[in-house]
Amino acid sequence: MRCTKIICTIGPSSCEPEMLRRLQQAGMNIARLNLSHGDHNTHGEVVRRIRELNQTLKYPVAIMLDTQGPEIRTGLNEVDLVVGDELRVTMPPTEEQAEPSVKTLHVNYQYLIDEVKPGQSLSVDSGLVKLKVLSREEDHLRCEVIHGGFLKGRRHVNLPGVAVQLPSITSKDKEDLLFAKEMDLDGIALSFVRNADAVREAKETLGDESKGMKIIAKIENQEGVENMEQILEEADGIMVARGDLGLEVDMEELPQLQRRMAYLCAIHGKRLIVATHLLESMIEFPVPTRAEVTDVANAVYEQADAVMLSGETASGKFPVEAVETLDRIVRRTERYPGVDYASKMNLSSARMHLAAAAAQMASELQFKGFVAITQFGRGAEYISNMRPRGLPIYAFTNSARTYRTLLFCRSVYPFLVEDFSINPEFTLEQALRTLRDREGYQRGEQFMVLANILTAEGFVNSLQVRKIP
Ligand code: PEP
Repeated sequence: MRCTKIICTIGPSSCEPEMLRRLQQAGMNIARLNLSHGDHNTHGEVVRRIRELNQTLKYPVAIMLDTQGPEIRTGLNEVDLVVGDELRVTMPPTEEQAEPSVKTLHVNYQYLIDEVKPGQSLSVDSGLVKLKVLSREEDHLRCEVIHGGFLKGRRHVNLPGVAVQLPSITSKDKEDLLFAKEMDLDGIALSFVRNADAVREAKETLGDESKGMKIIAKIENQEGVENMEQILEEADGIMVARGDLGLEVDMEELPQLQRRMAYLCAIHGKRLIVATHLLESMIEFPVPTRAEVTDVANAVYEQADAVMLSGETASGKFPVEAVETLDRIVRRTERYPGVDYASKMNLSSARMHLAAAAAQMASELQFKGFVAITQFGRGAEYISNMRPRGLPIYAFTNSARTYRTLLFCRSVYPFLVEDFSINPEFTLEQALRTLRDREGYQRGEQFMVLANILTAEGFVNSLQVRKIP
């Protein structure tokens, strides 16, 4: 069993039913719907197709909606920018005031002139175009083109080092969150999270009915980095959104920031997703670069719960090959030890201590894996947090949502059981038989089990060594 989960962004290259099936066979555990593109009808159809596919699978594919987030964009006009040129950057519409010899770029951020200082830069279209601010004028910024190119309209703008005043969650994000709620999706990747309030606001929008849905905060600018610990208290996990983060902070800070996020997620028992550019060259080519292979391995060593593909599966030429390649690199890397941040975790409940003991014993004795009988997923998640190397954690749950959300946890493979018996022993016996019949384990093979037992005092947590019947 592969421990690190694979997330695939679904787009034109991968949205057909046959392609979704092939991605799943290649290793997709979670499908990501990127709400920066497409409408609810199109995404709704993908959800329907994945649910249909899930009917045929042993382990389902979970679905995560990724919000667009508060974004700054250029106006509709296209501009050809030559290195060294000067241009005006201003709010639309001010074309009449522009000097004919000086080009103008419109940017839809109302505080642009007040907040961006001379010497700072604007990154446009994923950093392909870079502008340096020379001076602030009354109604525009005078900028020099540092990296030029032909800019189409409506390109994404990053303002590195500027604490932008934008709503945490836009009205479009709210509609998209309500769509996720209505479709009963399994996770939300919340874009451009700058503080814990953004996560709270998202949770409020989703309401109690969506409780259990994984809320993953995307850390993609300086403010998000600074507030990471408070954000983590509110969110279920974080995504190292390296695309935007690499534009918003000095790029050479990225490796260190990724490591810090891995550490914080581990010690707080939260989910870690490493995203963007993992196999970027496979958008165009059937093999990755050697550096990409090493980057993926690094995320595995850092014990990420999941690694995420974006353009590789959404619009690339080799979506299936990209997932197969990712699967191969991850499996091979998992043979080797990764970082051990989990041992620094603060264990705050008896059940967490039991999970830690289970992981410790399993690494020293001959066990085939873990079994957790769990309604809301916590038992399985606590074992996953301890990062037991190479061993699967089979979670048996009676909750359809837990069944799918546990796919976000490293090493966890879920089974949905119709009902828990009033006697936990019956449920456990049934689970062990399921592992024999559906996973092919042999009689006598041993598992560490985290489950309730029924005592004279009622249900109590237990850690048991059990054999396949
Ligand atoms: C990123 O910036 O790395 C990211 C994952 O976000 P998006 O793809 O939505 O820009």
